[in-house]
Amino acid sequence: MATVTTPSSAPGNAALPPVRQYHKFRKTIHFICVLIFVALPFSNLMRFDIPRQRFYVFGQELWINEFAILFFTLMFLLFTIAAASMLYGRVYCSYACPQMIFSEASLAVEDRIRRWVNKHFIQLSAGVRTFASKFLFYASGLVASMFLAFVFTSYFVEPRDLLGRLMTLDIVTAGGIAGAVTTLITFLDFAFVRTRFCKMICPYGYLQGMLSDKQTLLVVYRDGEEKQKACIECKKCVRVCHMGIDIRKSPFQIECIHCGECVEACDEVLAKLKKPGLIHYTWGEQGAMLGSKEEGWLRRIGLRDPKRAVVSFIMLFYFAGLMVALSMRHPVQVRVQPDRATLYTSNAQGETTNKFRFNIDNRGSVDATVAIQLETRESALHLTTDRVSVTSGGSVMETIEVATAPDGLKPGVYSITLHTVSEPGAIKSSFPMTFVMPKKK
Ligand code: SF4
Ligand code: SF4
Repeated sequence: MATVTTPSSAPGNAALPPVRQYHKFRKTIHFICVLIFVALPFSNLMRFDIPRQRFYVFGQELWINEFAILFFTLMFLLFTIAAASMLYGRVYCSYACPQMIFSEASLAVEDRIRRWVNKHFIQLSAGVRTFASKFLFYASGLVASMFLAFVFTSYFVEPRDLLGRLMTLDIVTAGGIAGAVTTLITFLDFAFVRTRFCKMICPYGYLQGMLSDKQTLLVVYRDGEEKQKACIECKKCVRVCHMGIDIRKSPFQIECIHCGECVEACDEVLAKLKKPGLIHYTWGEQGAMLGSKEEGWLRRIGLRDPKRAVVSFIMLFYFAGLMVALSMRHPVQVRVQPDRATLYTSNAQGETTNKFRFNIDNRGSVDATVAIQLETRESALHLTTDRVSVTSGGSVMETIEVATAPDGLKPGVYSITLHTVSEPGAIKSSFPMTFVMPKKK
């Protein structure tokens, strides 16, 4: 968070701390979040390709059946939300939520357009200026909605594929319909709904109530007794609040997203009167202020009791599990099963054969080959195929035969091992199997 100092609550304090700059800090974080939001689907850092049933995380292409990695990813995200909510309250809402970021941007753009039109077209009537402002705002909102809907849909449909559908004005396929519907919803949201969504629909604010406790970071108004109140009733804290609330009534209002805009507003107003601000980030309603130098660093970063430490530890545990699972992942996965529909059979050359089913998935970005070797003490046994190719992103099911001449072996069951070497990467696997040699008829 922004550089935070701890002003004394005593009015008239000579050593007045600097105004806490949360607005600029939030806008910088918002800008970084927008860059990340736009970059993620194009860089495959985080994307879910529904048509191909692929999940992309940190540049790795995961298949829908890679349960371990998906499990660790989901659990990590779940505990990240839980830990962030428990420690820092609604920090996600105020600093990183796309709905809040674009709602605030929409309000700011509308305000700028209105002021620009009023300044440059003062000769026109008020009605015409209002119409022109609305027209420009809705037009710019439509363009922005198309772009954002494209980015959002790219999280679920490959961006080049989606662009192709857009160029052909495809509103017939699922991807095209999803893009058109998302554009419409995004436009209606930015033009009309905005922060109303946070107040009335979003379940995260309610989830917050369940996860927060007496030590969760809050925005709190602290003033003296009735006769010594430092508040000058300027109401700037109310005017800057995008959620339209008065923080002086209670720090537990469901609409409050803990953005800190009112903290900065009050600091600014009272600094002119050489007084410290009355609104602060604090650890719970009665707790210390954020950044208090009197506390140890663990408490200052929010780890204020064992419960918080445990949740943070579980979050880190799942993150470590995700990293280990990703590092152990091989792009080419080979599975081998004996074909026991028929224990043995004869091939066109009259040899006795046992069949083995190879299922090979190539989850990598380049074509792969799998070399197969037979390990056995019986020199009479040999493979009829020793190489299988799989295109990038493809799957192959191939039946491989281990064969011997009709009188090459005595009747019985022989231990064999099928070794595979996948390229690129020279990934080796071994599959112990048995070869069944029938009695002569
Ligand atoms: S900005 Fe500060 S002084 Fe002004 S009304 Fe709000 S709390 Fe009172
Ligand atoms: S009351 Fe203050 S912290 Fe809460 S949403 Fe409004 S401006 Fe942000």
